[in-house]
Order: sequence, then C-alpha cells, then structure tokens
Amino acid sequence: MSEIQSYGCFVNGVWAPARSGRTVEVLDPATGKVLAHIARGEKTDVDAAVQAAQRALPAWADCPPVQRARVLSNIARRIAQEQDRLARLESQDTGKPLKQAQADAVAAARFFEYYAGVADKVLGTSIPLGQEFFDFTVREPLGVTAQIVPWNYPLQIASRGLAPALATGNTIVMKPAELACLSVLELTRICHEEGLPVGVLNVVPGLGHEAGAALAAHPDVNLVVFTGSVATGAAVMRAASDNIVPVLLELGGKSPNIVLADADLDAAVPTLLKAAFPNSGQTCSAGSRILVQRQAHAALIERLRAGLDGLTVGAGLQDPDIGPLVSRNQQQKVQDYISIGRDEGVEVIGGGRVLEGANLDAGNFVLPTLLDQARAGMRVHQEEIFGPVLTIAQFDDLEEAAALANGTEYGLVAGIWGRDVGATHRLAQKVKAGQVFVNCYGAGGGVELPFGGYRKSGFGREKGLDALLSYTQVKNICVRIDR
Ligand code: NAD
Repeated sequence: MSEIQSYGCFVNGVWAPARSGRTVEVLDPATGKVLAHIARGEKTDVDAAVQAAQRALPAWADCPPVQRARVLSNIARRIAQEQDRLARLESQDTGKPLKQAQADAVAAARFFEYYAGVADKVLGTSIPLGQEFFDFTVREPLGVTAQIVPWNYPLQIASRGLAPALATGNTIVMKPAELACLSVLELTRICHEEGLPVGVLNVVPGLGHEAGAALAAHPDVNLVVFTGSVATGAAVMRAASDNIVPVLLELGGKSPNIVLADADLDAAVPTLLKAAFPNSGQTCSAGSRILVQRQAHAALIERLRAGLDGLTVGAGLQDPDIGPLVSRNQQQKVQDYISIGRDEGVEVIGGGRVLEGANLDAGNFVLPTLLDQARAGMRVHQEEIFGPVLTIAQFDDLEEAAALANGTEYGLVAGIWGRDVGATHRLAQKVKAGQVFVNCYGAGGGVELPFGGYRKSGFGREKGLDALLSYTQVKNICVRIDR
C-alpha cells in the first residue's frame, strides 16, 4: 500500500479536491521523494472559502467568549495528545530536526491554551464625560481573516494566527505554503473534530501566485495576515490596499547577537549556535549575525569552531542538529551566498559546502558555516540568507555596535551578551528591533511575548496580549442619559 497521503481543500466543513482537480507534489527534503499530494487551490476555491467564512462569521462573533475559549482549550488538549505524530510529520515535511519539531508542537498547543485563557478577558474601557453621557469602548472582531503561512514553521505559525483570531471571534481562510504544509492540514482536521463550527476555519492549499494572490486581493476579506519574504509581503500589501484592508506583516530578519568584551563566552556560545541554526537557519528570527567586541573576537571564534565541530547533520527524523534545507532552490541560494561571501573577502570557517555521500546526495543538505571578518556593506552581512550560515563582524565601542546592528533593512530580534548591566541596557535602548534579549535568546516558544518587526521586518504584533489588538477593532459607544 502506498504511504503517500493526499489532502484536499477544506471549505465549509468539507474536504474536497481543488475545483480544477489539480494537485501539487510535496517532497521530502531529506530524500527528494514524494511525501504527499495537496490540492492546488485557485481563485474559485478561494472564493468559496471566503463565502463560507463570511457565512460563519455572525454566529461565531456573537458566540459567548467562554464558549469560544472551551473550543480552543479542546484543540490545545488534542494537539498535545497528537504531539508526537504531528512532530514527526512536521520534521519529515520541513526537514527540521525532530526535537525542534516537537518543540513546535508544544508551542502550537500552548498558543491555543494561551488564547483560550484570554478569550473572555478582551475588555473595553469606560470614558468619563460627565453626568449626561455614558461612553464606553468594545473590541470587535475584524471579520474574515486571510492567513498566508510560510513553509519554515507551518504548525507554529498557523497556530499563532489561528488561536488569537478565533479567540476574538474572527473567521479564517488559510493558505499554507506549497513546500511544507501537512501539519497545517492535520491541525485543520483537529480543529474540526474538536468542535469548531463549520465555515469558521477554511483552508485552501496551493501556489502563492494562484491561491495566495487570490486570497490577498479578495474584496470580502477584512484582514490579511502574512508571514514570508519581503517581496511577497509587499505584493500582498499592494493587493490589500486596493480594498483598504489592513495587513499584519511578519517578514524576514538579519538579527544580530552583540557580544560585549565582558560577556561570559562559555555560557553564550551554545545559545549563539542554537540561535543561528534553528531549522537549519531557515528562521526569520535566527541570530544570523554575531557582532563581537574586538578584544573578545579570538576567544569567541575558538569556542564557535569547537561548537561547530560538534554539530551533526542528517535527515530531520534522525534528530541531528542540522537537517536538510526545504528545497533544492534554497540549497542553491545558500551556496550562492557562501560564494558571494568568499568574493567579498570573508574567511570561511567550517562547512561552506553541500553534504554528499551515501544517502545524502538526494537531500538538500548544507554544512553549518561561519563567515568571519564580515563588514558593514557586505551582502552576506546585510541580506537574509535563510540557511546554516552565521556571519561574524567586529566592533570597538557601543556606538559602533549599535550602528552595525541597525545597519540592515531589517529589525526583528536582537541579542546582547555582557556582564555590565548599564552597557547592555544602553544598547537595548539603541537597537531597533521588535524583541531584544539580554544574556539569552528566543525564550522558549515565546508565546507570551509580543513579536513583530521594525522597518522591513514588517509591522503589527503577533503573540502575547498584543495580538488581541491586531485581530480586533475598537468601537466607541456614547449614550446620552435622559434626566
Ligand atoms: P514567500 O514569501 O514567497 O512565501 C510565503 C507564503 O506566501 C507561501 O504560502 C506562498 O505560497 C505565499 N505566496 C507566494 N507568493 C504569493 C503572492 N503573490 N501572493 C500571496 N501569497 C503568496 O517565501 P518563499 O519564496 O517560500 O521563501 C523565500 C524567502 O522568504 C526566504 O528565503 C526567506 O527570506 C523568506 N521567508 C521568511 C519567513 C519568515 O518566517 N519571516 C518564512 C518563509 C520565508
């Protein structure tokens, strides 16, 4: 019996093939073999999904928040029950190491648990206008939310968008990524089986320029939530602007870890490597640049080299430190960047090449690589590589550190390592990034922490209580009181 799974579109509570009957092959990035077939949804599938979401909206928006919370709690419990299966599927589909996929499944359950807890605590305010008026605000759902999900963290990012949208009474049409989305389709099944009313969540898999573009441009959508590249984010924003629809954009990053001369390097280095290479570096918030104060450079490089030597590479399900990249294209793009770095004059330490040999040629492997002696202005220091490549540049003082940190078009996350509380705090104030970590990086799944970008890393905030603002709009009601 074939193990290859097939998934359709999920519209109005029913799984069905795309109206065109067309499908997309999903490949295992470790072997290049076909893992599944997914529907290749197009505009007509998106139209039907948006209609279903519109029909489901009034009842879901009016549903007592405590009832919405109970559905979310049930989904959270069920994800936790199916955690191992979901993690294995995510690992195989994306190529990420199994332990990282397990952490993603834990975070996915936690998103539903967290927003179940706040669904009935979305409060308004009352505004004093004197005895003649009673004025108050309420937070209402935006309506039909379009959610376009990337391939690097399908389960986490889908859960990150679904849970706050559902908690606040919105309905959803989701377009997961064609390269990796099987966990999103399994999550959809779970949501349905755990009592989410028909039409509240609809999912149309397919290609970006077909299903994705049709969804972003749909006139009956009330919010577009997008995570992915800057170029696609800009296209999504342009499409939404024709309909005056707000967008929530989570785009790329080139996040720095700033290591001051007095930092505890032994404590820092394991986290610096973990921050750089999660999901083989295919992570928007990866700490993909180290900026180190000149006096600490030699000692840091020595420790990084040793750390790099200990990293294992292999198929995600073997649970190595570094899995394959998601596609051949991504593998080629990363190799191109390493060549660009060589031409720009960096010193390549470790890796720097694809992994070949028994059973590995068919996978999209690149060995973890350090590019030392990077400088401001180099492309490898400026541009998001999205692979297991970490650049290292040096600075002399805090001003220069801040200038280097802020010297890219991104501003998603930053890490600062040092023992002088004053210096780390001054830098935290100067760095332009949506999240700054001092003597740590990432803080677990980060479900509770507001997350989003400065500059071309995007705008709007996901996660934490701030996401409730992103998925609601304020209505002010003013009542004149008869005397
Ligand atoms: P992408 O931005 O093209 O794709 C992300 C999602 O958008 C996918 O679901 C895709 O199908 C959809 N999409 C593509 N074109 C669309 C369009 N015209 N309208 C609407 N939706 C569309 O990303 P990619 O090409 O898969 O990856 C390229 C780069 O994106 C990566 O190298 C990385 O820099 C960045 N990226 C960032 C993140 C992140 O978490 N911020 C995630 C994935 C990729």
